[in-house]
Amino acid sequence: MFANLRALIGLLTREQRRRLLQLQGLVVLMAFAEVGGVLAIGPFMALVGDMSRLQGDGVLAELYAASGISEPRDFLFWMGVGVLVALALSAVISVLAIWRLTLYGQQLGAELSIRLYRHYMAQPWLFHAGGSSTRLVSNIAQETQRITDTLISPLMRMNAKAATATCMVAALVLFNPLVALIGLAVFAVCFVGLYGAVRARLAANGRAVSRSQVARYQLMAEGFGGIKDTLLLGRQAMFNQRFEAASRRYGRAQGVTKALAQVPRYLVELVAFGTVIFLVLYLLAAHEGNLGTILPLLSVYALAGFKLLPAFQQIYASVALMRGNISAFETVQQDLKASRGQEQPSTRTAPGGEQSSTAQAPAKLVPQEAVALSNVTFHYPGKEQPALDSVSLTIPAQQVIGLVGPSGSGKSTAIDLLLGLVDPQQGELRVDGQPLAGPRKRAWQNAVGFVPQAIFLADASIRENIAFGLPSDEIDEERVRRAAHMAHLDELLEQLPAGLDTRVGERGIQLSGGQRQRIGIARALYDDADVLILDEATSALDGITERQVMQAIHDFAGSKTIIMIAHRLSTVRRCDRIYLMQQGRVVDQGRYDELVERNATFQRMAAHS
Ligand code: ADP
Ligand code: MG
Repeated sequence: MFANLRALIGLLTREQRRRLLQLQGLVVLMAFAEVGGVLAIGPFMALVGDMSRLQGDGVLAELYAASGISEPRDFLFWMGVGVLVALALSAVISVLAIWRLTLYGQQLGAELSIRLYRHYMAQPWLFHAGGSSTRLVSNIAQETQRITDTLISPLMRMNAKAATATCMVAALVLFNPLVALIGLAVFAVCFVGLYGAVRARLAANGRAVSRSQVARYQLMAEGFGGIKDTLLLGRQAMFNQRFEAASRRYGRAQGVTKALAQVPRYLVELVAFGTVIFLVLYLLAAHEGNLGTILPLLSVYALAGFKLLPAFQQIYASVALMRGNISAFETVQQDLKASRGQEQPSTRTAPGGEQSSTAQAPAKLVPQEAVALSNVTFHYPGKEQPALDSVSLTIPAQQVIGLVGPSGSGKSTAIDLLLGLVDPQQGELRVDGQPLAGPRKRAWQNAVGFVPQAIFLADASIRENIAFGLPSDEIDEERVRRAAHMAHLDELLEQLPAGLDTRVGERGIQLSGGQRQRIGIARALYDDADVLILDEATSALDGITERQVMQAIHDFAGSKTIIMIAHRLSTVRRCDRIYLMQQGRVVDQGRYDELVERNATFQRMAAHS
């Protein structure tokens, strides 16, 4: 576990580590101040009980003589003030330390989650296509908080108490080594034994918490995401049952971990009192019943025990809490490591991007001759069959190209490669004959507008959805209106009382599939892309609307490069060139009438559309 904690500290940034070290110093100072504050009361009380101490040759008497105060009562008053100041100082240090400690913990949690979010946002498309987003959500929302609340904070508390305990034990050893060591051994054996008994359970609990947490997030996402199917199929009971099981597992594991951290104190108190009784009996026997010599000794041990017991308990509770939650670190360790010192990925800037973070307008790579996939082969990870098998496609600039074929034939994959979202295992993507790499790829993506099969609508107004991802003060109203008009959204907007301000998405109005897709098309047009790629973008539109939208798209023919995937052959009838795909290969190409004439598959498809 301590190796893991070291690894965790090692993964923090230099700045975070520096602040941690500072805080650690403050926390140790707080421990000393606390002990010092309590100990300062001792001499004061002794003096109150016995003013004659000012005479003779004790430390107090020397202090009294040195102070030059003539009245013992005045001396007592000023000593009281001195003790009060010491206590106040100790309180100020404690307040400062706790304040900074709490803030640091929460800020570190926030910083770790920012770092993970950035890291996940920078991952390529395949990472997201093949992974589960709920796992990422759980890591960002839950596990980073667990790391600070149950690993970093207890670690600091533990160190503080260890400082107090060491201080105390050292004083005791100086006072009477034998008694101190025996007492320490009893405490140590007690806590180490307890910890040994529960550590396996704690570790198992920690993993159970992590697992059940992911399961809970997943069930929430599936349950609410697929609510229509759930209602229709009457599967609520199943979801409820699975959620209940996961939540109970979570509650139980977390509860047992917390209880195991708290409960042993009562056992240990028992041991502590047993030791005191044993000590009294031993001292009585050793000093032949002379109470006068035993009482001062006993009061020292009692005071030490009074400070030591909570210190040990806090140390134990911290260790138990960390042991029970170290799995939180294990789940994100790799991602935290990978996200360290990561360069900021280049971002796509807003059109006319002078307001955006990078000062210059985004570089665009607009194809002048052609975009081409040359001899490209691509396997999805873990799949036997290649999704694309030696595919060569040429898309001449400013032409309209259709991509057709049965579902599963690799059309969407070919588009992902064209977009530069995935890299092929063989072959390459070329723009104007040049392979794309590095900044040229970003520039190419800046020139492309993409309308996917399923449009993601953010929980925002139609305007914000058209200018997707831009903060509202950077949205260009004129562009929004033009894009909406070109995507044939005018009629819909007129029906809506709030027009472009109508909220859509999660908590907004429900849109039909065709309306969603037109918002997606407007989104691609907002950026004034030079290359438009549509993946079955019009498949949910009715015949008339589709014809209107297609007309709008064909209006760009000659000025934009357009690639469209379509189910219905009527959609691609007017394309300059059509590629027919089957099982990851391009099996034929040509104009619509050519293909209808010579290709049997194409004829079958034409007959059914
Ligand atoms: P189309 O768009 O023509 O319907 P796709 O390009 O989506 O076809 O899919 C081609 C093949 O790749 C299919 O066999 C599909 O199962 C597989 N595939 C698509 N996406 C993934 C993915 N993220 N992971 C694994 N396999 C995938
Ligand atoms: Mg597809």
